Amino acid sequence: MKYALVTGGSRGLGRAVCLKLASRGIPVIINYVSNAAAAEQTLADVCAAGGSGELLRFDVGCEDEVEQALAAWQDSHPDDYIAYLVNNAGIRRDNLMFMMPTEDWHAVINASLNGFYYVTKRLLPKMMQRRHGGRIVNMASLSGIKGMAGQANYSAAKAALIGATKALAQECAARAVTVNAVAPGFIETDMTAELPVDELRKLVPMNRFGRPEEVAALVDFLLSDEAAYITGEVVSINGGLYT
Ligand code: NAP
Repeated sequence: MKYALVTGGSRGLGRAVCLKLASRGIPVIINYVSNAAAAEQTLADVCAAGGSGELLRFDVGCEDEVEQALAAWQDSHPDDYIAYLVNNAGIRRDNLMFMMPTEDWHAVINASLNGFYYVTKRLLPKMMQRRHGGRIVNMASLSGIKGMAGQANYSAAKAALIGATKALAQECAARAVTVNAVAPGFIETDMTAELPVDELRKLVPMNRFGRPEEVAALVDFLLSDEAAYITGEVVSINGGLYT
């Protein structure tokens, strides 16, 4: 059985991706780090929609936790493998750089960039061996393309994730594994809940924030068989808010 692993699947964009994949009959592994209640709710919603899933708690930024959780999952699923990986977990700790605490620099880089490295490196060998068309989608951001004041840590992490996406795509292409990035603008989730929406949406030509389901539809396409010849791309989804 081919599974999908969605890091940060408990809330926001990851949750919407879990629901979308489940609706296509793909069993989902819903990763989270601390909000067990939200993860349980997402799993319940996946099941209520007729899909199947399971929870897998680990901190993507802790290599030991990643290794232990994924090894345990593989031991309990000897005949299954993770064919679809969505590196979605991420945090933001915004501040002007001259005031940014060192720990906030490292925390953001660790979750978004090192997390991608730990999880992907662990799953890649099997994906490459299988030659069944593995799929990796990395959740980048407009901030990683354009750079955003107050987000030097986040912009750096997401820009690096885009670079890694392009490099890894070339490493994996001959094994039919695709690697792409999605770069959302402003999307309605907990991450953007405290932003001044009425001010910021005026910057967006569509005059609104995006919905998680709109991002999930794009991720779903990039994970599909139809997207087999798309790799190394960064697809923006931002309501026309170009750089
Ligand atoms: P969110 O609502 O804050 O949800 C974040 C998710 O990531 C939660 O499921 C959280 O788990 C998980 N998570 C955070 N740190 C983790 C860690 N160390 N290990 C494992 N899981 C972790 O955020 P979102 O808006 O859905 O954002 C999802 C991704 O899209 C992020 O990478 C973000 O940078 C990117 N993005 C978002 C926007 C936007 O406008 N919302 C725009 C561009 C890019 P818990 O529930 O356990 O806390």
